[in-house]
Amino acid sequence: MAEDRKKKTIHKLYPVIKVLFSTAGKRYPLFFVFEALKTLVQVVQPFLGVIVTRIFGYFGWSIVDFRFGKDIRLYDAREMMVERWKKNTEESIAAWKWQADKNYPCALLSGILSLIRTLITYYYVGLLVIRRVFSIGIFTQMISSAGALDATLGGLVWNIQELMKRCNYAYEYVLFMEYPAALPKGKARIDKKDHKIEFKNVSFAYPGTDKKVLNGINITIEPGEHLSIVGLNGAGKTTFIKLLCRLYDPTEGEILVDGRNIKEYDYKEYMAQFAPVFQDFKLFGFTIRENIALGEGGNSDLSDLIKIVGLEEFIGKLEKGLDTRVFKVFEEDGVEPSGGEQQKLAIARALYKQAPVVILDEPTAALDPIAEYEIYRHFHTLVGNKTAFYISHRLSSCRFCDRIAVFSDGKIAEYGNHDELVIIPDGIYAKMFEAQAQHYR
Ligand code: ADP
Repeated sequence: MAEDRKKKTIHKLYPVIKVLFSTAGKRYPLFFVFEALKTLVQVVQPFLGVIVTRIFGYFGWSIVDFRFGKDIRLYDAREMMVERWKKNTEESIAAWKWQADKNYPCALLSGILSLIRTLITYYYVGLLVIRRVFSIGIFTQMISSAGALDATLGGLVWNIQELMKRCNYAYEYVLFMEYPAALPKGKARIDKKDHKIEFKNVSFAYPGTDKKVLNGINITIEPGEHLSIVGLNGAGKTTFIKLLCRLYDPTEGEILVDGRNIKEYDYKEYMAQFAPVFQDFKLFGFTIRENIALGEGGNSDLSDLIKIVGLEEFIGKLEKGLDTRVFKVFEEDGVEPSGGEQQKLAIARALYKQAPVVILDEPTAALDPIAEYEIYRHFHTLVGNKTAFYISHRLSSCRFCDRIAVFSDGKIAEYGNHDELVIIPDGIYAKMFEAQAQHYR
């Protein structure tokens, strides 16, 4: 018990101790102020509690987002959604009620005190008038001054409360900004040019897991090489690309670009080397032009690019052309592109970036066979002499690439070109190719 009490006291004093001794307090005078105010806020926290219910927001959006409409209707998820919504609303109301309940006695007390103060003022000043110390004029003046003082003091207290409440947000913000960067960022410069890429004994497990999704990967990709990556679902293909793009750092081993560990490069410049199209790419509710250029060069001529990715006809039919909004989030006349059209837009976005390394993760999954054929036909126009990584389950597309890496259980199980891999007896690639080819015979 005594230990508990001690812990509680330490907890309350913690911000003060931290301010007095932390380097953050020394480095940032504002941080000092936030910490001190946070201490005060902790004392009055129950009265000012701010409840953020992320689930509440999620359900709110899912229910009104028409893209969920098909699944909700066809899989009869309406009842489940409404039930969850109701349950969540009740929980939120309970939380707000808890806060109001805590606040209520204070508000009541404050009201009663204000009433007592007013009664005493009336009584005292009234008495002085009856005793003829004050005239009626002065009585009126005194009463209105007391009222003004009351309102000013009330306003002051309210403002202090608001300040403390907002300092709470500011405190969290400062703490967040103080976190060390998850990925170390170097300073070495890197130009936009072809690069030699090497994976040396790279292994990787996602944070919070022990399972090695990649295990001892060794591969070298020469400048301008087109590498096709194939393998069953969950083999680690996308993870390999994520490591290359520095969305995560390897758990073991190192990735070298032009002989230098990628951690040493300036992060922003390094990221500018890649133009990836991931399977789960996202388009925004902006115009088609903005979705392709993403803020840069909004007025540049996109007609060649549109032609290459096969969107000429689609955009030609739109009254506002490239300035049509994607989706109907902001405008009634926004366009809802099909899956294939969205994928073409994502490819256009990647090509617009003009990065030396192009990454296409299942780029033709949503395309019809003719569009897919067109993408293959223009593959060399699309990526030119750039280094390209091409993840695909359609093995016929591997013929366009110089080398094929077959991933299996986090390792590169087979490596070579199409003709070499297809003849390996019992080979993974040969089996996958045969399985697909059967459908076309
Ligand atoms: P592929 O692209 O070959 O289908 P992935 O690289 O996407 O495979 O995934 C490899 C494995 O890593 C899978 O078992 C998957 O469940 C797991 N995985 C992928 N992303 C995450 C993540 N963010 N956290 C934990 N595990 C993940």
